[in-house]
Amino acid sequence: MQKSEKAGLVNGKFDAIVIGAGSAGLYQLHRLKELGLNVALFEAGTGVGGAWYWNRYPGARFDSESYTYGYFFSQDLLREWSWSEHFAAQPETERYFNYVADKFDLRGNIQCSSRVTEAQYRENDNRWEIALEDGARYEARYLIAAVGPLTEPTLPAYEGVSSFAGEAYHTARWPKAPISFVGKRVAVIGTGASGVQTIQEVAKTASSLTVFQRTPNYCVPLGNSSIDDKTQKNIRDNYPKIYSRCLESAGGFIHNVDPRSVFELSSEEREAHWEKIYHEPGMAMWLGNFHDIFIDEHANNLVSEFMRKKIRQRVKDPKVAERLVPKNHGFGTRRVPLETGYYELFNSPNVKLVDLQETPILRITPVGIQTTDANFEFDMIIYATGFDAITGGFDKIDIRGIDGTRLKEKWSNGPITFLGTTTAGFPNFFMPGGPLTWLGNIPRGLEYNVDFITALIAHMLDKKFIAIDAKPESEAEWTTFSTEGAKKFLSSKVDSWFTGVNTNVKGKQKRTSPFYRGGGPAYRVRCEKTIRDGYNKDFNFYSDANEPNIEPELKISLRSGGDAIGRAPQKAVAG
Ligand code: NAP
Repeated sequence: MQKSEKAGLVNGKFDAIVIGAGSAGLYQLHRLKELGLNVALFEAGTGVGGAWYWNRYPGARFDSESYTYGYFFSQDLLREWSWSEHFAAQPETERYFNYVADKFDLRGNIQCSSRVTEAQYRENDNRWEIALEDGARYEARYLIAAVGPLTEPTLPAYEGVSSFAGEAYHTARWPKAPISFVGKRVAVIGTGASGVQTIQEVAKTASSLTVFQRTPNYCVPLGNSSIDDKTQKNIRDNYPKIYSRCLESAGGFIHNVDPRSVFELSSEEREAHWEKIYHEPGMAMWLGNFHDIFIDEHANNLVSEFMRKKIRQRVKDPKVAERLVPKNHGFGTRRVPLETGYYELFNSPNVKLVDLQETPILRITPVGIQTTDANFEFDMIIYATGFDAITGGFDKIDIRGIDGTRLKEKWSNGPITFLGTTTAGFPNFFMPGGPLTWLGNIPRGLEYNVDFITALIAHMLDKKFIAIDAKPESEAEWTTFSTEGAKKFLSSKVDSWFTGVNTNVKGKQKRTSPFYRGGGPAYRVRCEKTIRDGYNKDFNFYSDANEPNIEPELKISLRSGGDAIGRAPQKAVAG
C-alpha cells in the first residue's frame, strides 16, 4: 500500500474506511471504533462538519430546531452542549462537530484534505481498495460512504461562467476568509433555501443586490431567537421528550403532520389556524400542516392561496410581488425556505428582482450577467444554484462492485438500494443517508442509518462472516415500494431535488424518486423487520469458504437513542 503524502494515517490496511467527516461519518467512525475496529476516515475538506463545513455562506443556519439536529446517542454530549439560538448559525454548528470529534477522540482516525476518487471491491479477498486524489491507496473490509445527500454543488451551464472577472462564489464552496459586500454590486442566482438565507445577509451591506430568480418558492418566517438559561435547562430536561417527538413524526422534527383534513375546518377556522402556525418557529407551517395538503390538490390549493396572499401582503410593489408568488407548484411540494424579513427586502431600493422566466440569462460576461433584457454589471456573483443531490456524492467517486460494475451505471435510471444503506452487487459497502433512505430532519435519519449499519457489521463480526450483500429481490422490493409510495405525494409531480431533477447536470432532467417518502416511523418498521428476521431474508452472508450462510443467529439490536435517553428504542409506528 502506498502511504499518503499527507500527515495522518500511515497504515494502508484498515478494517473499515469511512468517507466523509459530516454528521454521519463522524458518528459512524465513533461506532466502529467502539466495536474495536481499526478505522480510517477520509475527508475532502480541511476540517470536520460535512455540510456545515462547506456551507459557510453568509446567513447559513439551521432550519431545524438546533436541539433536534444534534446527536442523541450520548447523554454526556446532550448535557454538555448548549445551543445559543433556536436555529443556530453555521459557525456554531461547525464548532459542535469539532467538539464531537475531540470529545470522542476521533481526530487520530481522520485524514482531511483527502478526496476519495475511486473505490473497487476486490472479489478475491472481499476487501475494498480506495484511491485518493493524490494517488494514495488504502484498503479495508468495510467501506462506508457517508458522503451526504447535499454535497456536490452545481453551477449553471451558462456560457461564460468562467469568464467573469469579478468575485464569484458558490454558497456550498464559500471561502473561509471573510468576504465583504460593502459598497459592492452583488448578484445572487438561485432562490432555494441557501439563496434565501444568503440574500438576507448580503442585502444588509451591499450597495446593490440583484436577485436572479427562476422559480419562486413559498418562504415562511423562521422565528429564530436566542436561548436563555431557563429555556436551556428546559431543553436539557426534556431531551427524552424532544427525541420521542422527532421519532414519532414523519419528518423527524418536533413538528408533526396534523391528522385533520383541511376540509374539517370552516374557511374562517382554517385561516385562523394557518395565521397562527405561519408565525410559529421553524417548519410548523410546512410540516405541521394538515395531512391532505401534501396529497390532495384541492387542499393544497387552499393553503397555497393563503401563502400567496402572505407574499402579496409583504411586498409593496404588486408587480414585484407577483414575480415572487409561485404559480407552477403548490405550497410544500418543494423544500420550503425559511426566512426573516426576506420578502420585505424587495421593498428596499437597493434590492432588485430579475424574473428569469420573463427574461432568461443568456450568458455570464466578464463584467456581469446578460439576460434577454439587459446587460448587468456586478462586482460579485453568488451562485446559490444547489446540488447534484442524493446521488451526486456517490457519482463523483468511481465506485465499482462485483465484476467491476460501476455504481453510477447501476443507478443510471434512478437509484436502486435496499433501505438506502446497501445496494446489491456491492458487498460490504454501506451508505448512511444513501438514496432511498428516509430523509427528513437529516441527522435523525443519519443517526438511525449509522446504528443500522453498525449493528449489521457487528453481526458479521459476531458470526465471522467476511462479506454481506443485499439480495437483489429485497432491493427491488424496497425500490419499488419506495418509488411507488412517493407517487401519492403532490411533490412527486414537481421538479426539484426532491424528485432528482437538476437542470445543470447531464442525465438528471427526468424525475426519479431519490429518497423514501413514507416517513421515519414506517422506514424504521421495515429496517426492524429485517433485523427481526435475522437479516438473512434480505442479505446474503459469506463466510471464509465463500458459501452463503443461510441461518445466522441474531444478537445485535439497534441502539439509536435508547442509550442516550435511558430507555429502549421506541416501537416504530407505521405512518
Ligand atoms: P436548491 O433548493 O436546489 O435551489 C437552487 C436554486 O438555484 C433554485 O432557485 C434554482 O431554480 C436555482 N437555479 C439552479 N440552476 C439554475 C440556473 N441554471 N439558472 C437559474 N437559476 C438556477 O438548492 P439550495 O438552495 O442550495 O438548497 C438545497 C437544499 O439544501 C435545501 O432544499 C435544503 O434541504 C438544504 N439546505 C438546508 C438549509 C438549512 O437547513 N438551514 C439551508 C440551505 C440549504 P429552480 O428552482 O428553477 O431550479
